[in-house]
Amino acid sequence: MKFYNLDVIIIRRKRKTLELRVFPDKIEVRSPNYVNENSVKNFLELKKAWIDVQVRKYSQYGSLLPHNRKYNSGELFLYLGKKYELRVIDSFENKVDNDDENIYVYSKNSDKKIISKMLFVWYNKNAFEIIRKRVDYLKNFFSIKPSSIQIKDLKSCWGRCYSDGRIIFNWKIIMSDVKILDYVIIHEFSHLFHMNHGKAFWNLVKNVCPDYKIRRQWLKNYGFLLSI
Ligand SMILES: [Zn+2]
Repeated sequence: MKFYNLDVIIIRRKRKTLELRVFPDKIEVRSPNYVNENSVKNFLELKKAWIDVQVRKYSQYGSLLPHNRKYNSGELFLYLGKKYELRVIDSFENKVDNDDENIYVYSKNSDKKIISKMLFVWYNKNAFEIIRKRVDYLKNFFSIKPSSIQIKDLKSCWGRCYSDGRIIFNWKIIMSDVKILDYVIIHEFSHLFHMNHGKAFWNLVKNVCPDYKIRRQWLKNYGFLLSI
């Protein structure tokens, strides 16, 4: 089913109400098991005005929106909270570089899969270095240290902490400002003490990062921009 040219994904669960979420590339409806497709359609019609606002909100981001990208020169990419213009340069040498305003991808093949793969490798290499540096600084605020730090391509979260002390960060977090990155690191470090999101956990986060609520809200509002 499509609505506004967006795929509609219906997630049926044991629940009583319909819940609607609009993403840049899809609409998700969480619905009770017994609700059929027609009722979902009616529900979407009813919420049309609100959906329209969301779709328009997303469309203002243009090529910053990952699913709009064609990986051509001139498109915008976030790196450490700043917008950079992509420059694809025909070259026999394959490399990615940046200055204050541009990210240069040198490649003899400008196929979008190749350019996105090269950007992925570049972001991951930088993520490893930048996150390790911030971890080295922020670990001084905690008495327990992680057993290991890894950077991965996580699909649905910014970081993850395991009970054996391993912490994994999503490389995409370096697309955001370092303040947001720091919040994610502090959040995961705090899980070394509390493996939940209880009051004690948030108190610990707040202790190190007094304005954590603003940073957390930023991720909720703009996290969809952190992707290539
Ligand atoms: Zn958490």
